[in-house]
Amino acid sequence: MADVSSLVSEGQNSLMVKCVHCDSRVLSPQSATFLSSSHPLPKPTQPKGQASTNTEDLSEWWVVDDMFTFDNIGFSHSVGTTKYLVCADCERGPVGWHDNTTRKSYVALARVKHA
Ligand SMILES: [Zn+2]
Repeated sequence: MADVSSLVSEGQNSLMVKCVHCDSRVLSPQSATFLSSSHPLPKPTQPKGQASTNTEDLSEWWVVDDMFTFDNIGFSHSVGTTKYLVCADCERGPVGWHDNTTRKSYVALARVKHA
């Protein structure tokens, strides 16, 4: 992915995190921690008539320790111990995932915009 140094300040998000589709605010500045780690996330659009889910490996994430840190976030379906995060306003995504066991949430830098 592109150089993220302009987005990260002292390990946290220096800018507001917003939905790419409707501009809804997801996170305030300095509320999440940057993590570089490869993890699969389902693609926003899935081919019709296919049983399995198409995923892509993304490697840059905003880690949110507490759900209440989010300004706006919605959940889609759960898969095992994972819930997928979608925009609370337009319900598009997934923009990230939530681990039910650790209660941490991971927002993909590639699926949101920064302003
Ligand atoms: Zn939205």
